Amino acid sequence: MYLIGIDVGGMSIKGGLVTQEGNILFKTTLPTAEKYNDSHGISEDIRKVIDAVIQGAKVSVDQIKGIGIGQPGSIDSKNGVIRYSNNIALENVPVIAQLKKYYDLPIYINNDANCAALGEHVFGAGKGYNDVVFVTLGTGVGTGFIIDGKLFEGKDCAGTEGGHMQIDISDSACACTCGRKGCWEAYASATALIRQTKSAMDGAPNSLMHKLAKEEGKVSGKTAFCAAKAGDEAGQKVVDKYIDYVTSGLINLVNIFYPDAILIGGGISNEKEYLTQPIQKAVNAARFGAKYTPDVVIKTASLKNDAGILGAAALAL
Ligand SMILES: [Zn+2]
Repeated sequence: MYLIGIDVGGMSIKGGLVTQEGNILFKTTLPTAEKYNDSHGISEDIRKVIDAVIQGAKVSVDQIKGIGIGQPGSIDSKNGVIRYSNNIALENVPVIAQLKKYYDLPIYINNDANCAALGEHVFGAGKGYNDVVFVTLGTGVGTGFIIDGKLFEGKDCAGTEGGHMQIDISDSACACTCGRKGCWEAYASATALIRQTKSAMDGAPNSLMHKLAKEEGKVSGKTAFCAAKAGDEAGQKVVDKYIDYVTSGLINLVNIFYPDAILIGGGISNEKEYLTQPIQKAVNAARFGAKYTPDVVIKTASLKNDAGILGAAALAL
């Protein structure tokens, strides 16, 4: 029996046939429409991807154990409804009910960060840990929580938005996309790091960051890290401050959950030990009860580009 994992993103809908051990046997992709004009559009495109997986992998529907869908936004996973998704502009879409008309199979949907947490727990770097906090440092900051081996979602599956915990209540706090000020996401996302890098570059005309940004054609989440690795003082300052921001939110989460492990995914996690080592040290030095309890393991997520498909497939296990 196989699983089908569907990873819905702003640019594309990816689908894969996955074994119960987490091996992807077949992959396909369809561009996401710029705009879905009716409430069936996204389900129709997901159906196209599911059909392409079944046909392309040459399996029959009775060899499929279940289908999982990972979708950004606010998802009512219990009722199978996309409540709201801002990057694809969707509102109140009953995806599961629409797909159930075509497949007599268990179908599940969940928020993409929750899927990533579950995928890492079942197939990746979180394997063997009972309590895992997953944090993705990308365009935003997403969080997912595995508690006692299970995905924790809060009432009506509307919780676990760790990126929107406030870490700065001062008047000058950075604005967040959610409407509040001072959210962790506004300081620890890749978007925030780029903003911090640009601002530091304005004050450091001789920094190596200018040359690196010119070579890459833009300031990215890598600019300050690359400069710091090459010994650039201004770059190092940006990285140190960014790591402080990331650490600040992680300590809050550790003080609440004290998990076996924290897994960091998203674009910034490509910095690997350069990111996780100082964070591991700082978190375990400052968290509550640090003297009396073993260190929390902090490492990067392992599923990388396939995290979306594998995380969605894990829903169907
Ligand atoms: Zn926010």
